[in-house]
Amino acid sequence: MLYDYFGRPLNSLRIQVNATCNFKCFFCHMEGTDENAATLTPEEIERVVAVAAENGVNRIKFTGGEPLLRKDLEEIIGRTRKHVEGDISLTTNAYFLKQRVKGLRDAGLNRINISMHSIEQDKFVDITKVDAIDVVEEGIDAAIGLGLSPVKVNFVVLKGINDDQIDAMIDFTAKKGAILQLIEYETDREGEMGQNYRKYHYDLRIIEKKLMPTTESVEYNALHNRKRVKVLTQSGRHGTVEFVRPQRNADFCNHCTRLRVTSKGEFQTCLNRKDQLFSFKGKDNVGIFDSFRNAVAARVPYWREADESSY
Ligand code: SAM
Repeated sequence: MLYDYFGRPLNSLRIQVNATCNFKCFFCHMEGTDENAATLTPEEIERVVAVAAENGVNRIKFTGGEPLLRKDLEEIIGRTRKHVEGDISLTTNAYFLKQRVKGLRDAGLNRINISMHSIEQDKFVDITKVDAIDVVEEGIDAAIGLGLSPVKVNFVVLKGINDDQIDAMIDFTAKKGAILQLIEYETDREGEMGQNYRKYHYDLRIIEKKLMPTTESVEYNALHNRKRVKVLTQSGRHGTVEFVRPQRNADFCNHCTRLRVTSKGEFQTCLNRKDQLFSFKGKDNVGIFDSFRNAVAARVPYWREADESSY
């Protein structure tokens, strides 16, 4: 296992398998890359996973773009499973999920995050530019039906657009047996001073406080120290809500144990660090390890205590 200067172990990779998407969410940060980025082959992804796994990585998350646009995602997951015993997960908009989920599970996927930023059809279309709310719900049902666990529903909270849907989403996910993951609007492609960010950013602590009277238990995930609460929903169900609140949150960064892999074949230390890219494209295992080690060594908590900010 490798550790960075701040004592954080590196046990997780977030691998971007492509940079294209069939949805056009107006706030999307594109995981930091552009749509013209090249993509890694299944063999290249297997090699980077193998090197990382030999050095303590036991959790892999696949993301995009939209990962299900890749016809070879099942192969990528199968190749990954040869090296990783732990968690292999995927984040998807679920447009193609219903017909693919069995193959993905059989290849070795054990859990899934499905993005759904509105429970109201018209707002769903406004946000994604695609009329697909029913298809997404079918994807959620299919994933739960096949026993992927947990299924998390990703919901980026957008001020004035969907912040009035929180209770309905908690009820919806509780009814399905899914976890609602409320995500803070992180910097978009224009950065924190971008017009959309300033207009739509919503402080999730407001929701955390609102839920306190109906909160039944609180725990924290190892990754990012994310708060997870069990709540009694409006219709008397027991729901689970997880908060992803990275902005200006030193606690989040101090508990970050993850490196990103871009679709171009680079290790990236943080979504916010486009200046810290360590290419491994075309390298053999020794070269990949070299890039991996250099990337881990370069990791710095993006948001950190004021007295460390001059480091
Ligand atoms: N297409 C896939 C999906 O929709 O899940 C995977 C890629 S998408 C970039 C991964 C996650 O990042 C989604 O849940 C998405 O909503 C979230 N996301 C995108 N832009 C964001 C932003 N500016 N702030 C916070 N989350 C964002």
